[in-house]
Amino acid sequence: MLNIENLDVFYDGLQALYSVSLEIRPEEFVCILGPNGAGKSTMLQTIAGMLVPEQGTILFDNQPIHKLAANKIASLGLALVPEEGWLFGQMSVEENLLMGAYPKPSRPKIKRQMEFVFDLFPILAERRKQYEETLSGGERQMLAVGRGLMSNPKMLLLDEPSLGLAPLVVKDILSVLVRINREEKTTILLTEQNIFHALKISQRGYLLENGKVVMQGASQQLLGNEHIKKNYLGL
Ligand code: ATP
Repeated sequence: MLNIENLDVFYDGLQALYSVSLEIRPEEFVCILGPNGAGKSTMLQTIAGMLVPEQGTILFDNQPIHKLAANKIASLGLALVPEEGWLFGQMSVEENLLMGAYPKPSRPKIKRQMEFVFDLFPILAERRKQYEETLSGGERQMLAVGRGLMSNPKMLLLDEPSLGLAPLVVKDILSVLVRINREEKTTILLTEQNIFHALKISQRGYLLENGKVVMQGASQQLLGNEHIKKNYLGL
């Protein structure tokens, strides 16, 4: 479904990704793991068309997307939930959700998607008329995920949705991602520093260090890997 080959990405001459290759099959749940500054956000932003790679190719459903504008990529069915959420403080929960349904193909399904989001996160239904800026950190993150779902995407890219949240809220949000993957058959690519949780819920993982893929495999296998245990799980 998503095939990435030999991606090089730079910021003003500084290289952030080095020949990164990655493949995700339909309906998979895959995570990209790595420490601060490894290149995880750069990776997702490049897939979503916010950064243009210097080298390499990205195919989505066999179509090259690495030269397309972000809005065109979104309309093909790829939705990014960025670290900063892309939410509007002075708009209600409902209005923020509607902003997520801007790609044309998603508009006929707005009502159904909003009901699905409220079913996943009942607290958002209770707060539907409330301004975003009055929400808690966890509710805000739920809204960001919900906003991403409003376009009824084939594939959801999530950039560290658990960042800065209390452990119970992290569990809630990550378990909802599993539901989205299973019930809606949405393919998921998740970046996380919370490596233990990410490997517990995903099928496969890639470990990025200093802009390079240094390891990949089944999540169960990675959980037992000595390098990961020692450097990331504190075991
Ligand atoms: P984090 O978990 O801290 O967000 P990350 O794995 O997502 O880390 P990136 O944010 O992709 O990592 O950063 C990869 C590299 O690119 C880092 O060295 C970072 O300093 C650099 N970088 C990221 N954004 C920019 C930018 N806008 N301008 C210049 N360099 C950047």
